[in-house]
Amino acid sequence: MRTFQGKSVGNGVAIGKIYVYKKGEQQVKRYRVEDVDAEVARFTKAQETSIAQLQDLYEKSVKSIGEASAAIFEIHQMMLQDNGFVEAIENIVTTQSVNAEYAVAATADNFYKMFSDMEDDYMRERAADVKDISERLLAVLNGKSAGMDALKEPVIIAADDLAPSETVQLDKDKVLAFVTVHGSLNSHTAILARTMNIPALIGTPVALDEVDGKLAVIDGAKGILYVEPEEALLKTMQHRRKEEEETKALLLTLRGKDNITLDGKKVQLYANIGNSKDLAMVMQNDAGGIGLFRSEFLYLEKDDYPTEEEQFAVYKTVAETMAGKKVIIRTLDIGADKQADYFQLAHEENPAMGLRAIRICLTRPEVFKTQLRAIFRASAYGTIAIMYPMIISVEEVRKIKEIVSEVKKELDRQGIAYGEVEQGIMIETPAAVMMSDELAKEVDFFSIGTNDLTQYTLAIDRQNPELDDFYDSHHPAILRMIQTVVDNAHRAGIWAGICGELGADTSLTQTFLKMGVDELSVSPGRILPIRKIILETDVSKQ
Ligand code: PEP
Ligand code: MG
Repeated sequence: MRTFQGKSVGNGVAIGKIYVYKKGEQQVKRYRVEDVDAEVARFTKAQETSIAQLQDLYEKSVKSIGEASAAIFEIHQMMLQDNGFVEAIENIVTTQSVNAEYAVAATADNFYKMFSDMEDDYMRERAADVKDISERLLAVLNGKSAGMDALKEPVIIAADDLAPSETVQLDKDKVLAFVTVHGSLNSHTAILARTMNIPALIGTPVALDEVDGKLAVIDGAKGILYVEPEEALLKTMQHRRKEEEETKALLLTLRGKDNITLDGKKVQLYANIGNSKDLAMVMQNDAGGIGLFRSEFLYLEKDDYPTEEEQFAVYKTVAETMAGKKVIIRTLDIGADKQADYFQLAHEENPAMGLRAIRICLTRPEVFKTQLRAIFRASAYGTIAIMYPMIISVEEVRKIKEIVSEVKKELDRQGIAYGEVEQGIMIETPAAVMMSDELAKEVDFFSIGTNDLTQYTLAIDRQNPELDDFYDSHHPAILRMIQTVVDNAHRAGIWAGICGELGADTSLTQTFLKMGVDELSVSPGRILPIRKIILETDVSKQ
């Protein structure tokens, strides 16, 4: 057994095999090819290799699990030879002059949707098989044959570092935990682990090649990774895992309860999400709404600007799924650690203080308007609110309002319906805190982004792992700022919430209640633990 100490993002135990994620492997890029015939031939070769792999698997499985269970590998072989599937892929390559990986991924998406919508149970099950065979094809096209098979079972993902654009593409059902060698506790990868409510260790000094495929245990409470655990430790951890499951089940009994303190103060508990795939967790944990939809993840998943239609479809799905509960969409917050190549942002010495978030939107109004149109259109299907990140002045808010009013006029002219949309801002710069009395007169709500507010107030780069020990999110300066913002909001008759990670810190829940915070927006898995504290608190006695 070997042990490695990392910095833990969340408590909890994970037990499973390690899968070493190498950069770029899971991503499907779309690029142009000159010789489409050669590209089709490349696909055909990958198809043949995949069929041979499946035949191999079939023969081995017949011996180990019997003919009936092994039949799935025969079905996969047939699907790989299905004319409709193959022609669709070849057609995309030839008509669009694009690479085979892209054609496979696009066809798989289309077939997946088609099968999932079918009435017949048997046919609906084929949707998962389409995913399987396309993953196999992509693995072969990428020159890796065994790796994807490892992801057939849930694994602990280990990587040098993970960029937000990479984590967002992982198949979340297959991830038990994250371990990274580099990275900081306040990075978006850490935030993603919290959203998924799984343990994660950052800054773990582990030689990745030596641990690939090995059984491991993560103890989130101590921040330790055990590779090839001893029998006794494995037993203890399995027991703890079981206890955690029981606690989770107990918390689920709080579903459907209001977030009201013993002395009758009601607080909103909303969820933070990165895309519509997180909605299942939101429902499961009984969030009252979405307090922060980090819309930039839609941009990070793509190789080009998402179109108005693409965005509209996602926002509409979220609004409809939340069925009238509030959905606060934060407009594009790209830049700093969230980079998408196609934005072609110039290299900056200080990206956290650079062209990011609302600054990009105000300098590229066409990008901003596309997103606003999509959001306003989706507002006809639920209760949507918008909030703007990285605000530093009243002037910025006024400029935004002008752009919003142009967008609304355009929609009116085109006879396109939209609903009432509350508009708020994130308070995540010291300037916004200092100006919060003036800003409160301009907007409908405040949402305090403590991650960036801490970074900018304490002058500590949230991405720099060397500074994790200095990043004191309980610093009195931050707590005083929160009080100031809440007071200024209430004086102007608007509400104020917290959507940064501090909002989920249960050691501060009672402090926030006493401060008068109206809403906490947290990772879905934190909602019920916070509800428990709210139900047990008497604010008047604090
Ligand atoms: C924040 O800064 O607190 C916040 C919620 O935004 P992000 O973490 O996405 O920068
Ligand atoms: Mg922020």
